[in-house]
Amino acid sequence: MRPCLVVGNWKMNKTIEEAVHYVQALLPLLSGSSIEPWLAVPFTCIQPVAEAAKDSSLRIGAQNMNDATHGAFTGEIAAKMLLNAGAQFVILGHSERRMLYKEDDAFINRKVHRALQDQLRPLLCIGEKREEREQGRTHEVLQAQMTKGLEGIKKEQASQIVIAYEPVWAIGSLEPATPDLANETHRMCRQWLKELFGEEIAQQMSLIYGGSVNEDNAPALLSQPEIDGLLVGGASLTPATFSQIIHSQINKVPTP
Ligand code: PEP
Repeated sequence: MRPCLVVGNWKMNKTIEEAVHYVQALLPLLSGSSIEPWLAVPFTCIQPVAEAAKDSSLRIGAQNMNDATHGAFTGEIAAKMLLNAGAQFVILGHSERRMLYKEDDAFINRKVHRALQDQLRPLLCIGEKREEREQGRTHEVLQAQMTKGLEGIKKEQASQIVIAYEPVWAIGSLEPATPDLANETHRMCRQWLKELFGEEIAQQMSLIYGGSVNEDNAPALLSQPEIDGLLVGGASLTPATFSQIIHSQINKVPTP
């Protein structure tokens, strides 16, 4: 059975003080939930937030990293540095990185390899733009992002990877994918995972949905059999809404 996974992505928000206050407010709101939520925070917040969340179910991660181990890469950060600060996972290939910073699939693939080598769980984002959907290219775009992003990954590494389907048109747009559309897309993504890694491994891999998730639409999205969890941007910025989304998954029956 795949565990249900709710991941917050703060993007470029919160000072250290704000971040620690947030965690102190969030932790009591998690009582009664059996899941381990993940929170991707700015680099500066990883260490203090991991400290504030120690002994809790909350897992802290980063929103990006470089593929190199160290060296002359001004402004970049390495997987080992994130791990050392207390990160347990890293978001890779977010559409904002792909579009604003021109990250391509080959670079993202090298990061996936580096994260796994350095004991960070990669959360690989894929998603089509509005015009690609309108041109009927959704499948082609998603399959390319997934297969190129996962190139060279061995079967025994694959279950460490989480895939987030985030249609670009749904991010920050108040226009989430319908639960049916997201479920169908996840079914297709799992089919590609089967082709890459075989049935057994593909069934162990978590496929989560992101794009304008909030406390109102989370239950319907999570009730879909192929949706294993949610990646939440804006609605993860306040403890009350993020915890409500986390509690939506209590009713979810994990897919066998
Ligand atoms: C995101 O950018 O990962 C995201 C899901 O954002 P939002 O929830 O704000 O649409």
